[in-house]
Amino acid sequence: MPQSALKIKDHAELFNEPEYVELLKTKRAQFECPHPEEKVAEIVEWTKSWDYREKNLARSNVVINPAKACQPLGAVFAAAGFEGTLSFVHGSQGCVAYYRSHLARHFKEPSAAVSSSMTEDAAVFGGLNNMIEGLSNAYALYKPAMIAVSTTCMAEVIGDDLNAFIQNSKKAGSVPQDFPVPFAHTPAFVGSHTTGYDNMIKGILTYFWEGQERVANESINIIPGFDGYSVGNNRELKRILDLMGVDYTILSDTSDVYDTPSDGEYRMFSGGTTIEATKAALNAKATISLQADCTTKSLEYAASKGQQVFAFNYPVGVKATDALLMKISELTGKPIPEALKQERGRLIDAYADSMNHVHGKSFAVFGDPDFVTSMSRLLVEVGAEPVHLLATNGSKAWVAALEEEVKASPFGAAAKVWGGKDLWAMRSLLMTEPVDFLIGNSHGKYLEKDCGVPLIRLTFPIFDRHHHHRFPTIGYMGGLQVFVKILDKVLDTLDAKTAVTGISFDLTR
Ligand code: SF4
Repeated sequence: MPQSALKIKDHAELFNEPEYVELLKTKRAQFECPHPEEKVAEIVEWTKSWDYREKNLARSNVVINPAKACQPLGAVFAAAGFEGTLSFVHGSQGCVAYYRSHLARHFKEPSAAVSSSMTEDAAVFGGLNNMIEGLSNAYALYKPAMIAVSTTCMAEVIGDDLNAFIQNSKKAGSVPQDFPVPFAHTPAFVGSHTTGYDNMIKGILTYFWEGQERVANESINIIPGFDGYSVGNNRELKRILDLMGVDYTILSDTSDVYDTPSDGEYRMFSGGTTIEATKAALNAKATISLQADCTTKSLEYAASKGQQVFAFNYPVGVKATDALLMKISELTGKPIPEALKQERGRLIDAYADSMNHVHGKSFAVFGDPDFVTSMSRLLVEVGAEPVHLLATNGSKAWVAALEEEVKASPFGAAAKVWGGKDLWAMRSLLMTEPVDFLIGNSHGKYLEKDCGVPLIRLTFPIFDRHHHHRFPTIGYMGGLQVFVKILDKVLDTLDAKTAVTGISFDLTR
């Protein structure tokens, strides 16, 4: 074997050594019963054709590589943004390991959540005993200020009633009667992580607001929505609101819990919206959602309490940030300060300096509906051309609204919006109608390799690049980050194209 204790080879290098190449070849021949290589090549070519695309896009009974996660993952993320809150997921342990690892791999931070560890007996007899014991253990071991309960498929399939279970657990002494245990049913077989986020935010608001008297004041609430860039974005949001002098509450602020410092102390809980602030948020004049698709039920609930409600679509770039800031200014009576006006001017200056490099370039985008909407608006704003716009969790209404909007721009004439389609469908789109660049998450790297379309990682999850989430994407400063990230990929690709002749491999672009 080529490995040596004196010079340890990284796995990527090691597996290129002849011994491993031979070993993998033999394994394939002996154990994988491979089809002849010519046949495989023939089928691979067919999967790139229009004939295959039509079959692929008509597929309805199987999903291949969906660009979404399941409801409880969104619920765990939403709960993490409240001070001292531990997520308790009623159901299978393996599911919770998946949410924790997904969040930890993206944020490069520990992600705490516990499970009621239901197994076969609980599936038959119900999970009440698991809930009673689990809540008791979680309360005693981790000393949270609040436990937020959601569910996996298993608990939903057998129909466990969270409200009754929590009441019974309290009666059994698992946690004190007045200890906050909000809950949300999050059946994973419908919706996605954005639905789970919405359900949990509504569950927490309901717990603290229901039955309370509202004394309206001039403050505003902001619900950021499920956002893999929440560390950078929530801090940017707070900076903007502080500059404006606005009285606000961010409902679910995960910026600190997913960015704890290395100073020798492990923090299971860090930062987050306090329980007091969450209670007081009932009195706000308005609740603003930064991601409409993540907050349908939460906004309905806020409206039912007498608040004004407004929803945006992940405000990135000039126009989208303008709309958000003007709404906040209108609601609060606070003018937009000179410092923010200057940031706006700098972003426009950056566009003017560099948009010749993105003008006319074609893009495919995938992710959550609000992210895809936001990116298509930004692309049009800088003269780029969105072509394939895909959200696995995008509804028919979202498809119709975005298609109408994007086609209203001359840059969006070729755009087609796909809701309910997966990344295997995106492969067919890229193979038959290639574009210059792909915007999405880390799962797009297989499309990049397969279809030869350079990938720009801009949304959750990003597992294979580090620390992007520490920098904002929303607001004018965030828009600048996003624009620079797109430009970097465009210019790297341009440099790579000069590899054959070296002509145009220029220092100055
Ligand atoms: S889809 Fe169901 S089984 Fe799979 S991780 Fe989510 S809750 Fe668990």
